[in-house]
Amino acid sequence: MEHPTLEAVCGPMFAGKTSKLIDRIDQAQRSGVPVVACRPAADTRSDPDALTAHDGLRRPAIVVAHAGEIPGLGSAPGGLVVIDEAHFFGDGLIDPVRLLLRRGVSVVVGGVDTDHRGRPFPPFPWLLCEADRVVKVRGVCADCGGPSARSHRLSADESALAVGGAESYRALCRGCFDRATASRALH
Ligand SMILES: [Zn+2]
Repeated sequence: MEHPTLEAVCGPMFAGKTSKLIDRIDQAQRSGVPVVACRPAADTRSDPDALTAHDGLRRPAIVVAHAGEIPGLGSAPGGLVVIDEAHFFGDGLIDPVRLLLRRGVSVVVGGVDTDHRGRPFPPFPWLLCEADRVVKVRGVCADCGGPSARSHRLSADESALAVGGAESYRALCRGCFDRATASRALH
């Protein structure tokens, strides 16, 4: 009988989430576990067919336009599906992940857990409740060097899913984020 697990790897941008997912892929492959890695087409920043970490590590990945495609990517009971940049899927990821778990497939989901205003970023409120294991990654605050916890957007774009890299976002600790966003309403 399979006992699949759900793991969430989350935190602000530039904190090493994709490196953690690559660790999970490598661990599974060393153990002979079949792995499928995927990422959303909506994230246009990196190589379309790979998970790419900021340290340059990359592993092949399938690009999906919609979360509903993920259960059909060829995962088998006892296998592992790794999903990066989950915040691009929103709560549309919930049913596909549940379906995989019911099939006996373990799932590791990575992504940004709070948006540019510091609000919970779907599907993480759900994921953090249902996950068997939660890994909160922290990087370095761009202002004070403390532990980064939020992704501060440098532009005035107010859409929750504005795609961008280091030119558009800085990772900040809670205090520096609060000061940087104090001029904007937080609701
Ligand atoms: Zn700081």
